[in-house]
Amino acid sequence: LYIEAPLAAGALLELGRDHTNYLVSVLRMKAADALVVFNGKDGAWLAKIADDHRKGATLELVVQTQHQTPKSDLWFGFAPLKTGRLDYLVQKATEMGAGAIQPVITRYTQVSRLKADKLYANIIEAAEQCEVLSVPTLAEEIALADLIAHWQHDHGLRRLIFADESAPSHAPNTQLLDLEGLPVGILVGPEGGFSDDERALLLAQPFVIPISLGPRILRADTAAVAALAVVQSTIGDWR
Ligand code: SAM
Repeated sequence: LYIEAPLAAGALLELGRDHTNYLVSVLRMKAADALVVFNGKDGAWLAKIADDHRKGATLELVVQTQHQTPKSDLWFGFAPLKTGRLDYLVQKATEMGAGAIQPVITRYTQVSRLKADKLYANIIEAAEQCEVLSVPTLAEEIALADLIAHWQHDHGLRRLIFADESAPSHAPNTQLLDLEGLPVGILVGPEGGFSDDERALLLAQPFVIPISLGPRILRADTAAVAALAVVQSTIGDWR
């Protein structure tokens, strides 16, 4: 359960009506039942329902012990899309194991102003749904040229896997097979695609690996899910 409150051993959490109804009426939980709570900052914690639910009252949780949650080191960059599809894209990136999500502004990006709090709410919702307890970070948007210029400083040895519809579509993508154990990032372009200059800039980088997602042109949100699935299932254990 995502809780916007500091989490530490012994903390008492007063739930609101929605959370109370969800635990009592939907999950049929009762006193002493345990659940995992997280707030996106202090990790995940095991908590127990303090006492029986009195009709009309809200529940209280007692935070007990920290719950170990592996944090994904998979970075996912995307060129923002129109709102509805953007919500979908960040939810799917969360479900597919991204540990850090960053909007990358490219020449053909159509969205002017990103609503970071709304995007983060979608990430939280997806994290709760797929029980990702170490919530992905949502980084500040960055221009593609700056991302590339600072990549090695900011990301060290991380390889940047670039979903490119003009990459040769042969399987298996042997370059991915060599990435086992290395930190990786995935970048997907906007509906209008990357410009020729942007593609040339990306392909000129020693840390960039272009991959094809097949012979068809995928919508950007489809490509996001496909790229995450191809990479996650090729580079060893799922992040
Ligand atoms: N340039 C495309 C065109 O001419 O129609 C449009 C870009 S596509 C809608 C959006 C993004 O999805 C691309 O920038 C790329 O990152 C990714 N993508 C789409 N199809 C792909 C494919 N077959 N292989 C690799 N990436 C693909």
